[in-house]
Amino acid sequence: MIIKSINPADGTVIAQTQCCAGADVERAVNRARETQHQWAALGVDKRIGLLLQVRNELRKNSTEIASILMQEIGKPKIEAELELLDASETISYYCARVKNVHDLPFPLNAEVYPQTTASVQFEPHGVIGLITPWNYPLSLTFWTVVPAMLAGNTVVYKPSESAVLIGKKIDDILQRVLPKGVFHTLIGDARIGQTLVKSSVDKLFFTGSVSSGEWIVKNAGIKPLALELGGKDAAIICADSDLELSTSGVVWGALTNMGQCCVASEHVFIEAKIYDEAVQQIVQKVRALKMDKEIRPLVNAEQLKKVERLVSDATRKGAKVLCGGKKIDRPGFWFEPTVLANITDIMRICHEEIFGPVLTLHKIKTAHDALRIINAGTYGLGMSIWSADVEHAQQLAINAHVGMVWINDTALPLPGGEYCGGVKNSGLRNTESKLMQCLKAKTVMVHTGKEKRMWWYPYG
Ligand code: NAD
Repeated sequence: MIIKSINPADGTVIAQTQCCAGADVERAVNRARETQHQWAALGVDKRIGLLLQVRNELRKNSTEIASILMQEIGKPKIEAELELLDASETISYYCARVKNVHDLPFPLNAEVYPQTTASVQFEPHGVIGLITPWNYPLSLTFWTVVPAMLAGNTVVYKPSESAVLIGKKIDDILQRVLPKGVFHTLIGDARIGQTLVKSSVDKLFFTGSVSSGEWIVKNAGIKPLALELGGKDAAIICADSDLELSTSGVVWGALTNMGQCCVASEHVFIEAKIYDEAVQQIVQKVRALKMDKEIRPLVNAEQLKKVERLVSDATRKGAKVLCGGKKIDRPGFWFEPTVLANITDIMRICHEEIFGPVLTLHKIKTAHDALRIINAGTYGLGMSIWSADVEHAQQLAINAHVGMVWINDTALPLPGGEYCGGVKNSGLRNTESKLMQCLKAKTVMVHTGKEKRMWWYPYG
């Protein structure tokens, strides 16, 4: 099978890539397993050295990588550059962080455990499978590849079929620096992803949609899973917020990467007192966005159709279009940045992830009312709260059923994507940092006495 890479800005085919065969998946996993012991035995300092060389290669190739991100995904230049910066910072962060990973001595009560010491030792899982989406193809790949490899795992990676060219470039850079056989890239669609899910990898990291996540949970068999799935994030603008700041933040938070961001502020809840003024500012700021520079295409025809369907369902059911609302008449996959008001529960847009350039506005009496609605939803990825009263916002954050909260900011990940993820349908929330997720624990207990234990046979 051939995968066609299409420039979303004009619909032209820019490359054709042969998809790998199902049998290549287990072959890659086996080869990654053969090399894993040697890779782990290399020691952390040498692995850090190699990953820092990868960072140099990334920087040397930054112009080419940014241009692939712009051509293949349709990103604005600034966002392509930010993704590169993020990938490079991810390497710096984990290379420093990995030095703090140590086995843990486990203190024991000597009366209960006489002459015994214990420790928790951390070791790599072995071969890690990684499946990524197309929306932040560089960042999301590095957020796992870097800690996984530093921890001594080898990696089998499947990029999205809509981000094949960037996937191949990532492979090219890693192959240039790393020993042979420790990193493998499988070009393919969902079927190759499914084969990787069912393969003998020791742990699987997946970022993508809820429906794919559900399939994985049912089909992966018994292996550790890290799932980071979709979102339907909300922003709450409180009456005391700095309106100039909050409306700019919300417009960016909803429309960055043309809304194709798991933590896009799709719902905007505005306290009644400032609703009219906030709406006016939001609409004015959305209308001021410039074609081509800030307004970019959606990644493919499927995404465009999905956004069109959700917006037309909403308008048919009474949503008011304050700006935008339709496809842009030019080749490629363009949709106007759109602001909708009068949103009601019966509209699909109220519950389903849009993943497009659409903000839906809701007038609420107080932020607590917004929180009740947000908490009743099926997603739980992130949310932002805009308020001058940080204590009040912190209280709201405590009661929010989400994985990430930003107060007077939005969609800003911790370095290396640490603790990025959600609750409910948004994924399997993890309490561990990413490096620890790439390691498994083993307890080792040592008894130094010579006598038999009193609880061994024969009793008495
Ligand atoms: P997707 O689930 O369709 O595809 C993601 C990847 O999984 C692709 O590589 C695809 O080929 C593969 N895949 C699809 N079905 C699979 C299956 N059953 N088994 C194994 N692999 C499979 O998602 P997408 O359209 O590429 O990305 C958009 C989604 O990703 C959105 O829902 C978005 O919210 C989510 N996302 C979440 C995060 C996060 O951190 N939580 C970050 C980015 C994107």
